[in-house]
Amino acid sequence: DFSVRLPGRGEDELGELSRSITVLAQDLKHLKEERNEFLSSISHELRTPLTYIKGYADVARRKNITEKERGQYLNIIYEESEKLSTMMEDLFNLAKLDRNAFVIDLTRIELSSYITAICKKMLPAFQEKKMNLECEGSEHIEVMIDPLRFEQILINLLDNAIKYSAPHTKTSIWAEREKGKVLISIKDEGTGIPKEDIPFIFDRFYRVDKSRSRNLGGTGLGLSIVKELVEAHGGQIEIKSERQKGTLFLIWLEEAIE
Ligand code: ADP
Repeated sequence: DFSVRLPGRGEDELGELSRSITVLAQDLKHLKEERNEFLSSISHELRTPLTYIKGYADVARRKNITEKERGQYLNIIYEESEKLSTMMEDLFNLAKLDRNAFVIDLTRIELSSYITAICKKMLPAFQEKKMNLECEGSEHIEVMIDPLRFEQILINLLDNAIKYSAPHTKTSIWAEREKGKVLISIKDEGTGIPKEDIPFIFDRFYRVDKSRSRNLGGTGLGLSIVKELVEAHGGQIEIKSERQKGTLFLIWLEEAIE
């Protein structure tokens, strides 16, 4: 019960105050629920690789198995530990973003050469999966970004394009001026995302196909980091996707003024 009586205040003001306190209490309750949900997701996500590690370590130390089997079990243990480190790294980055402890070091960057350089770095990963990466030449556009943090955004999105596309498909990335802003588009011809999943796609740990994403080394944290990083740059990110056709990510930024 949040009805408060303060001396010297009119009924209207008191009503107003009591309503504000009720709203505040609801917000706090919501935050608490969100935190609980987040913590239970984390423990669940950490438990999966740990279960594998424990189980395979247990069988690997038995005497009645062959060296080949032991090797296979150790490989699984190694891979699962790698997944754990990726997840810890992602969580650590998210925590830093949450505390605003991320220093965004803005520099004036010319986008077309910046994007071309990232494409060059990413090309071998695309070629390895027999995929095509196209960086369309764009006009001279300057933006204020933190080159390292922004690279993390583009690499996360391009990595996803690789993970969720078949060989012989094309991924494109380009920048242009649009509606008085700068628009960076990343488009793939992959599996696409079902309409009903799109509203949750930037949520922490959200994955369309849990087991598939897990096998591909996914943590479900990548897109939530991408969104926070884009917003830390004062930008916005949107997604358009159609099942079996592909996905398009749109990143909006302000153009750097002269
Ligand atoms: P993950 O580590 O699982 O890839 P993300 O946060 O990067 O986590 O992505 C969340 C989910 O969104 C993925 O599990 C996948 O289902 C879906 N997704 C992300 N990017 C794409 C894409 N380019 N094409 C199809 N699905 C995607």
